[in-house]
Amino acid sequence: MMLIEEQVAAARQQLTGESLRAVRLRVKEMRSWRSLIPSGTDTQLLLESVLLQHIGNPQRSSRFPLGIAEVVPTSSRLDIRFEHSDLVRPALEMLPYRERGQRTIHGTPGLWARTVGRSIEIAFARHPAAGVIALTTLDRADHIEGLLSTYEASLSAQRRVPLWTAAPGALPPEKLRTGGRRRKPQPRTIIDDHRPAVALPSAVLRRIRLWDRLSGHAGLKVSATSADHGLDWHIVREVHQGVSLHDDRLAAILSDPVAGPGLVTDGEGHHCDGDRCVMEFTAPADRTSGWRGLLRVETVTASTPVPPVPQRPRHFTALDETAFPSHGGLPHTSPAERHCPQRTRSDDNKPTEGRSTQLLAPRLSRSQWELTGMAMKIGAAWALDGCAVLVVTHSFDADREVRRLYEHDVFGWSIPDRPTFVPSLPWRRGRLVPGGGALFTHTVCGSRADVGALLQQARAHFDWTIFVDCNDNLGMGPYIERSVDSHFIVVDSSGYPESFVTAQARNGVAEHHEVAVTPAASAMAWRQQHLTGIPLDRVPMSGLVLRQSSPSAGSTPSPNFTAQVDAELARFGIPVLTRLPEAPHVALGDPSPTVLDAVDDASRAAYVKACTPIHLALRAVEPCLIPSADPWS
Ligand SMILES: [Zn+2]
Repeated sequence: MMLIEEQVAAARQQLTGESLRAVRLRVKEMRSWRSLIPSGTDTQLLLESVLLQHIGNPQRSSRFPLGIAEVVPTSSRLDIRFEHSDLVRPALEMLPYRERGQRTIHGTPGLWARTVGRSIEIAFARHPAAGVIALTTLDRADHIEGLLSTYEASLSAQRRVPLWTAAPGALPPEKLRTGGRRRKPQPRTIIDDHRPAVALPSAVLRRIRLWDRLSGHAGLKVSATSADHGLDWHIVREVHQGVSLHDDRLAAILSDPVAGPGLVTDGEGHHCDGDRCVMEFTAPADRTSGWRGLLRVETVTASTPVPPVPQRPRHFTALDETAFPSHGGLPHTSPAERHCPQRTRSDDNKPTEGRSTQLLAPRLSRSQWELTGMAMKIGAAWALDGCAVLVVTHSFDADREVRRLYEHDVFGWSIPDRPTFVPSLPWRRGRLVPGGGALFTHTVCGSRADVGALLQQARAHFDWTIFVDCNDNLGMGPYIERSVDSHFIVVDSSGYPESFVTAQARNGVAEHHEVAVTPAASAMAWRQQHLTGIPLDRVPMSGLVLRQSSPSAGSTPSPNFTAQVDAELARFGIPVLTRLPEAPHVALGDPSPTVLDAVDDASRAAYVKACTPIHLALRAVEPCLIPSADPWS
């Protein structure tokens, strides 16, 4: 089994062309491996979108897609290494200039470019740190530093005035908008065309090396066209003669949300005949800002002369493929075989049903977001144990109609909806998992019948589905019980009280007074305090998962006392299944790392070990009919 670190680094390296050594260090610095290639800030996305349009039709052939050997993506910078300096030249045409004696600006207004060492850096002069594109070449003998001045000189010779040379410090202060006075309408620029759909081209550019891993890669052309809903992107993929035009791996890697761009497609967006294969992709419905575009990928046989011997297709670690056989053919593990592991084979050849369980937390104890994080941590541990796991949350916001209202900002009222595709299976991968396990996620919206149907559908695909429920007023809690086989509770607990402190008046002063309690009394107090709102009287609980927080200062829980309280809780029908190791401190808004993220081996092993008793206990549960609590059913 491949180490997680190696799998994650390889999956990213194959799409960016970075060196494996550099990628290993870069992914180590990421807290979560939910998305292996960082996306850019708004300014960065805009730069990349405009750039891609300019470099999309290379005039010189290259063995790399668009001539790009490597991209190094970070949130506010993208380093792009071209094969030759000739391929860099079209990028410079995005820089602004005007004809002498005229005011109209050609190119992208506001850009600033300069040579830094052996690279050309392009940024917006007003916000030079908000986003940077750095262009370099593979060949150190290429004089890229001369390119910019040569281009500047060629424009001047054509009576054009370069506008990218004013350094940020030399700019006049930006005029503040004064209220009341109407501003002159600004002429529409290339920026206005790109802004609604900047995320899609950036996601493609940041994974540019995926194209030459596909069968028979010969060339790539990228162009953009304005559409009512935003900006659509068209990629023409040229393949060598005799290579099949249709390639399932293309859709698989473009749909992968962990290493790939996570786009969606469906049968409607696919047209295939002897001349061409056309597939259309959009972003999933929950991605709104910057995704107002369609990606159309058209595969055709190369017409222009191409290198005589096609490169061998290479495997995608992100699709769980291992190496290709030496003489081509399909990868050892094809993506289609995944996510229906061992379960599908049983004695009578009928598929074995997966299990469905509900994760509950005490009323008002934590947010749905936090509880989903807990489910992901437990699910990741089970996945590393070899299980295929789906984590399902419920949200009314995921509803398409509700989202349409959010999406309508002040400028948005008049923009038509972009097309959306509905993938055949709703869930998406949450993390890469080495070995036979899998971890997927899905947010379901709609009524309890919809949730129930989804949970039922998931049984055919996963060993375990964990339905996350917050048990608050918006939760599905009391109503979903018939769709799951078992229930368990996650509680933060620093230990059981061994005594209570009480105050008594003595000689006119309130004095603190400690009263020791029996394990039975401690169990009772703990149950009342920690399990508020859990329907213990109606729903059989499989048990408790205690998330340990540091014990309060000065108290060391005695193991003997703890064991006795555990026994009392078991007598109440809520046995302690496991105690999870203390989670490292997680900053607000940070995705909390799971055992499938950058955590050290010792804590990963400890967490997996602590999570195993949970699914062993849940597997032993006999499903039963629970009387409904819903007065309306
Ligand atoms: Zn096709």
